[in-house]
Amino acid sequence: MNDVVLTGDRPTGPLHLGHYFGSLANRVRLQDLHPMYVLIADYQVITDRDLPGEIRRHTMELLLDYLAIGIDPAKVTIFQHSAIPELNQLLLPFLSLVSVAELGRNPTVKDEIAHSSQAAVSGLMFTYPVHQAADILFCKGTLVPVGKDQLPHLEVARLVARRFNDRYGEVFPLPKAMMGAQPMLKGLDGGKMSKSRGNAIALSATEDKTALLIRKARTDAERLITFEEERRPEVANLLTLAGLCLGRPPAELAEEIGDGGAATLKRVATEAVNEFLRPIRRRRAELTEGDARRILAEGNERARERAVRTLEEVRAAMGF
Ligand code: ATP
Ligand code: MG
Repeated sequence: MNDVVLTGDRPTGPLHLGHYFGSLANRVRLQDLHPMYVLIADYQVITDRDLPGEIRRHTMELLLDYLAIGIDPAKVTIFQHSAIPELNQLLLPFLSLVSVAELGRNPTVKDEIAHSSQAAVSGLMFTYPVHQAADILFCKGTLVPVGKDQLPHLEVARLVARRFNDRYGEVFPLPKAMMGAQPMLKGLDGGKMSKSRGNAIALSATEDKTALLIRKARTDAERLITFEEERRPEVANLLTLAGLCLGRPPAELAEEIGDGGAATLKRVATEAVNEFLRPIRRRRAELTEGDARRILAEGNERARERAVRTLEEVRAAMGF
């Protein structure tokens, strides 16, 4: 079977190194092999906050980040939820396929509720994994490059596809997750690196900003640098970051740094990250917002055509 790739990100802020090593690197590799859709998940911004915030600016930033890391709009369809009504309409039949108990058990949703800034948990928070099933299934996506937090959602998408097929006949292939080199990169506070948790190194951060963020990262008091993820998580995290950027094992870097202490570790990490991000930042500076807007308009049109066809198929299968 020829795979179709679907992935996406919420326009809640600039993309960061967690995205890169969790998902973006795989996207760049896969775009030469398979048809690929990249979703700017704008409707999902309001799962964990009351207002969409600076949605237009964040959408533009996301687009520029995609182009800067090497996503090629000639090969990839980049689109947004809010432009594809037919995709969103799949949510209704799909919601009928899952139970309230199943929605309540999702561990990623539980974690996001814990970090949410909302006073009350919205219905959308519980149902957005089903919306994500629609994101994947509208284009009959089969391969989904994601970070670890997305695995429970992939299970929901598989469940929805399976149950739809059982009830109404074979329409959807079962999607599978593809994890990157680092399925869960930690942020500078030790939690999951996230756009909206203030603990990320953005791909678009300046060299100075990157240096500042790493300087402020927590370490411990031991002078000898060792790679011990359980016992010394903060030090291990900086070594991991540097190792990913240099393409080297973190334990090897630790040995090299030896008794150089936290100061040397931070210098090594800062140089590694800045070196890695330099070409991405350079490409980003060459891009214009006009180009990005045109690319999104074209992507939306292509994605919408795809969604119209799938919705027709779904309606026919259900006997409407
Ligand atoms: P937010 O805080 O707004 O939820 P986020 O940083 O979690 O933002 P998303 O847009 O929710 O980013 O996720 C986009 C994709 O990036 C998903 O596939 C997710 O699994 C992956 N991803 C996000 N953070 C990380 C991380 N720290 N490590 C690896 N992959 C990640
Ligand atoms: Mg997230």
